[in-house]
Amino acid sequence: MSLHLTGITLTYPDGDTRLTALDGVSLHVPRGSVTAVLGPSGSGKSSLLAVAATLITPDAGTVTVDGRTTTGLTRGELAELRRRKIGIVFQQPNLLPSLTAAEQLEVMARIAGRSPRAARAARTRAMELLDAVGLADQAARRPHQLSGGQRQRVNIARALMNEPTVLLVDEPTSALDHERGAAVVELLTRLTHQRATATVLVTHDRTHLSSADQIAEVRDGRLQLVAGAAGAFRRAQRTRS
Ligand code: ADP
Ligand code: MG
Repeated sequence: MSLHLTGITLTYPDGDTRLTALDGVSLHVPRGSVTAVLGPSGSGKSSLLAVAATLITPDAGTVTVDGRTTTGLTRGELAELRRRKIGIVFQQPNLLPSLTAAEQLEVMARIAGRSPRAARAARTRAMELLDAVGLADQAARRPHQLSGGQRQRVNIARALMNEPTVLLVDEPTSALDHERGAAVVELLTRLTHQRATATVLVTHDRTHLSSADQIAEVRDGRLQLVAGAAGAFRRAQRTRS
């Protein structure tokens, strides 16, 4: 199971006409693989992630998450699908200033005030994930006590809290220096393999691409797989899907 985008077209209102942000985009991302998406600013990368995240319904085309096609689902059903199956990491970590690193993750389980057992399970999972991103010793810190790179790691751990099938990451390194950016991409790749997520990583930095299983480029709303990555991708598909 995986993420499938098929024939996605998305337009936005633009004065009297409409602006085509995505133009017939198709993409298959198997579980346990990273697809890097490149492209200039304004080419449609974030729109692509928003459609994959089911946050925007496209004008045409289908999104299939873990075998479930989202066409025709109600807003409530989409919200449930997102909560259970999709982890999203936005460009800027939207952490809540008053919560500790561990609490940022625990709120994802939405168990506050429910059974003590569920709360303990959420805490255990939060600590396990903070450990996986190298922040076990920072669990009690609040965002202002963390560096930019550490905040982005909390953001990534939080996106994994509900064991998503699909992990969507939008330019996670844009606020980081090169070394920290490379470490975050390396972490995402490791977690993708360990947790078998179908990961889409939007990045503007080509030096981050060596670990990707598949590389796509978006230009003017059209997506093309970049030659050279296809062989590695086919190998990944054969072994993982
Ligand atoms: P990228 O992430 O590659 O920079 P975006 O997906 O954000 O590109 O934007 C693609 C195009 O769609 C751009 O021309 C942008 O101005 C336009 N756009 C993005 N979001 C909206 C919106 N909510 N309303 C209207 N136009 C939008
Ligand atoms: Mg963008």
